[in-house]
Amino acid sequence: MRSFISNRQKNLEPYVPGQQLAGSFIKLNTNELAYPPSAKALEFGYNNLRPLNIYNDTECSLVKEKLAEIYDVETDEIIMGLGADEVLNFCFIAFMDEKSPVVFPDITYGFYKTFADINRVPYEEIPLKEDFTIDPKDYMSINKNIVITNPNAPTGFALDVSQIEEILKSNPDNVVIIDEAYVDFGGESCIPLIRKYDNLVVVHTFSKSRGMAGGRLGYAIACKGLIKDLNTIKNSMDPYNISSLTQAVALGILNDPEYLKESVEKTIEAREFFKDALRKLGFEVLDSKTNFVLAKSDKIDGKTLNIKLKEKGVLVRYFNVERIKQYNRISIGTKKDMQTVLEKIEEILKGE
Ligand SMILES: *Cc1c(COP(=O)(O)O)cnc(C)c1O
Repeated sequence: MRSFISNRQKNLEPYVPGQQLAGSFIKLNTNELAYPPSAKALEFGYNNLRPLNIYNDTECSLVKEKLAEIYDVETDEIIMGLGADEVLNFCFIAFMDEKSPVVFPDITYGFYKTFADINRVPYEEIPLKEDFTIDPKDYMSINKNIVITNPNAPTGFALDVSQIEEILKSNPDNVVIIDEAYVDFGGESCIPLIRKYDNLVVVHTFSKSRGMAGGRLGYAIACKGLIKDLNTIKNSMDPYNISSLTQAVALGILNDPEYLKESVEKTIEAREFFKDALRKLGFEVLDSKTNFVLAKSDKIDGKTLNIKLKEKGVLVRYFNVERIKQYNRISIGTKKDMQTVLEKIEEILKGE
C-alpha cells in the first residue's frame, strides 16, 4: 500500500476515542450522560427545525442567545463548535504556534497533545502532584499558554476559582484555557472571570451534563477580542459547522432546564453511592466532582479488570499511561447500572 501522507503529518499520533460499541453493553467508558434528552426537548427541536433545504444559521444565533441568558454574558462572547473538541482545536490554531507553546498536566484529557501536534505547537506536560491534584504554583508566571481541565479528567479533582484566578493573574500575556466539560457535576465555573481577564477562554460541551454527545456541540465563552479571533479561525475552516438539526435540539435542551438539573442530581447520587460501595470492596477511589470515578484495587490489575468487565458486558475506560495504569475510569450511569457493575466486580474478584 502506498502512502501519500505529507511529511508534515506522517508522525501524527491520532487521539484514540473510547470504544463506541453498539449492542447490549452497559456503556461507562466515555462519560456520556445516562439520560437521553427529554421528549419535551426533542419535540421542541422538531417543531423549531429550520427547513433543511436552506443552509443552517452559521452564527447559531438562537442557541447563543439562550446561552448568553443562562451564563449572563453577551452573544459575541460565545463561539460554537462541533463539540468542545472543535472549539479547543480552534483555540490551538488561533493562539498558539512554534513560538507560542502550551503547557497542561501530565494526566489530563488526551486530546490536548494531539491538538498540539497537528498544529505544530510545542507542549510541556506538568506532572500532577503525588495525590493526583494540580498544584497551581506549578503554573504561576509560566509564560506559556495553559490548558487546564477543571474538574480534571480522568482524576475528577477540581481547583477553586480563586486558584484559577491566581494562575490567570500571573500569566497576563498568555491564553489560559479552562475546559469545564464536567463543571455541572460539582465544579465551580470561572465564566464570571471573563470580564476581568481578557486572556481567559472557558470551554463547555453539550456532550456530558447536557446529554447530547451524539449531537456534537460545544462552545467557548471569553472576552470579545478572543472570540473575534476564534471566529476568524472558524470562518476560515468551517463556517457552517453546526447543523440545523443540532441547533434545534440544543435549543430544546436549553429550554428544558429541569432535565439538566434532574439528570445531574441523579448522576451525583449514583456517583456517591458507587464510590462508597466500591471503597467497601477495597478499591481506592479518587474523590470525583464529575460524572466518572478513577479507581483501582490492589486485588486486581487495572488492565485485567477492564478486560474482564468487558467480557461481562460492561465497558469502562483504561488508559495505558504509566502513572494511572492500575486504574480504570468508570463513568457514572443510572444507579441500577452502577449496582450491576458492582455485582460484576464482585464476581470478578471472586474469580467467577
Ligand atoms: C468529553 C470532553 C471533551 C469533548 O467534548 P465534545 O464536546 O464531545 O467534543 C473535551 N474536554 C474534556 C475534558 C472532555 O472530557
